[in-house]
Order: sequence, then structure tokens, then C-alpha cells
Amino acid sequence: MPELLDIVGQNSALVQLQQAIAGGRRHHAYLFAGKEGVGRRTTAVEFTKLLLCENPSVRPNAGRFAAMDGDFSLRQACGGCGSCRTVLAGTNPGLKLIYKELAKFHDDPKVRERKMQNLSIDVIRQFLIDPAWRASSGGHGKVFVVRGAETMSIPAQNALLKTLEEPPEGVTIILICTSPDELLPTTRSRCQLVRFAPLPVDFVAETLTKDGVAQSEARFWAAMTGGSIGLSVRRADEKLYEFKKSLVEQLAQPDPPVVLAEMLIQVTEKLARKLHTRNKDIAMSLANRQASQTILEIISSIYHDALVSATGSGGQVVHADQPDAIARIAGKFDPSELAEILAQLARCEQLLWRNVNAKLFWDNVAVTCTSAAALEV
Ligand SMILES: [Zn+2]
Repeated sequence: MPELLDIVGQNSALVQLQQAIAGGRRHHAYLFAGKEGVGRRTTAVEFTKLLLCENPSVRPNAGRFAAMDGDFSLRQACGGCGSCRTVLAGTNPGLKLIYKELAKFHDDPKVRERKMQNLSIDVIRQFLIDPAWRASSGGHGKVFVVRGAETMSIPAQNALLKTLEEPPEGVTIILICTSPDELLPTTRSRCQLVRFAPLPVDFVAETLTKDGVAQSEARFWAAMTGGSIGLSVRRADEKLYEFKKSLVEQLAQPDPPVVLAEMLIQVTEKLARKLHTRNKDIAMSLANRQASQTILEIISSIYHDALVSATGSGGQVVHADQPDAIARIAGKFDPSELAEILAQLARCEQLLWRNVNAKLFWDNVAVTCTSAAALEV
């Protein structure tokens, strides 16, 4: 894991955190907002390390952050003290990670048995609010890092308000979320918002290439995920690249295969099984939905690129590895039809949250893609 000051692509977030620490304006509550896989969690852990460190190191900015003076003092955890080592080992009593699956360890068997739809008030109470108000550990304070904060239920957020507003001495709360708009305004307003930018596509692609992913595939996933390392690594690991290449080719044919829907069903089912095997906590129905969403996103990106190609708008493309096939797809439709396909695919995504039969669903997607016809689900 990179040290706090070595985190790449998030200078504005890091500057904000350094200023808060230096000015003695340490906030009680932070909201780390940004896309998945751009460094929110790494920053949260490294920032926690700094907050809990027994002997933080101080060094001049010296050009590290262009936005700050050269002699501004930057702070980073020492990395060697007992606190730093235990944070990294996951055994520091001062760092508490909060996530919805903690429900399985709740004192109340009813909570343990309940289906985990969101980050419930029971989890927030037992694992965050109660321990926060108990005596702080070892004099260095406590940091609570809430993952997937936007999944907190409304009662959970309301219960947390007082602790967010005025936590006990030494307590810091870091909420990690994708979009702050999904939290209650009252929750948002009590936190210092720290935005995490998407990472540069080149940087993400380079990181993947270093991990052994071929260059064209690395560039594809970096662009497809909009600059998310975490998601790119996962997608590359899901081995969907060959499928996407073949899908682009098939959609570019004058008459796409009649088995298109069947093919989409199969690849989705295979991916869902993989997701379920990787994480048994994910119910098969949720794995199916996530897999369907991933496949739909790939399909949408194909028509998005076709629209860019058809209109010559020069927008950023994802399928830079298959320009000819994308141009052939663009040539099959008017720009207005391509825009209609994209609108229909967006409607399909909404349907995923209803119990629509998989065959009917993918049949409709296939018909939409090949004829720009409206959905009949
Ligand atoms: Zn330390």
C-alpha cells in the first residue's frame, strides 16, 4: 500500500487533508466521495495511520503539491511505530471498519439472521455509535471508517447525526461513498467533503500493464471504467475482454447472429457464478444483477462509441482497439437511432431491479441493439 504522500492522482484530496491537519482544524467527520477503485479506501487507511501515529514525520512540501507553498509542512505516518504497524496488520483497536456485513456479528440473533439489504441502524449503533462513546483507546483516539456509506438506511443516518456533529474527544469518522447526493443532506452537512477524482486513463492502463495485462486490454478497461484502478483490475480478472471483442465484431456484422440473446445469457450466467464463488456473501440473485449490469455497460459503451464515431464529435472512446468494427456499427444506424438505442439500454438497466425473466430481458436487449426497436418488457 502506498504511503499517504505517495498516493497518485488525488492531489486535491491530499492537499485538503494536509491543510486540515496542519491548521489544527482537524475535522471530526469526513466524507470521502468518488468512484470505486480510485484510492478512497487506501487514503482512508493511510490518513487513519497518520491520525493514530505515535511519531508522525514532517517534511517540507518542496514542490510535492503545486497548490501549496514550498515550505508548507507535510505530515505522514512514521510507518514504524506500534500503532502504524498494527493499522496495517488490521489489529489496531483505534481503527474500526464499518460495513453492512458486520450484521453477521451482531449481538442480536434476529439482526444476524436478517437479510442484509443496507447498512442498518443496528450495525451503526453496535459497531460505531456505542464504541465511539466508550472511553478512547490508548490515548490516540479512534477512527471509524464506514464503507459504502450511501447504503446506510435513513434511520441509521439519523441515529448517527449527533455523533457526526459532535463526536467524543479523539474520535474521527470517515464515510466513504460514491455519490454524496445519495446521503441525507443532514449527514452530508456534518462532514468535510473530500472529493476523489477519476484517475488518468493512461495511469490506470500502465498500472494494469505492470500487472501483466496486455496493453490493448489494459487501455480498454482503463477507459471503460472511467479511470478506476480497482474496477479495472476486477474486470481484467473477470476475463471478459475476449467476449467484448467478439461481441463488437458480431454487432458490426450486417445481420447479427440470431443466437445473440443466448450468448448474452450464457456470458452473464457464467460471470454471476464467478462473482458468487468469489464472494459467498453475495446472494445469487444479486450476483446475477451485478453480472447483467456489467454486460449491459459493455454493450452501452459500444453504442456510445458508435455515436461518437457517427457524429464525429471527437468525444472520448472506449473501444480504441476496434475502430473499424465501431465504424461499421455506426454506419448501420442514423445518429438518432444510436441515441435511441442508448436510451433503451438505460431503460433496460432500470428493469434489472425488477424481477424480469432473463430470457425475455436479453431478447429485448438483443432486439434493441440490432434494430433500435423499443422495449416490450
Ligand atoms: Zn507511526
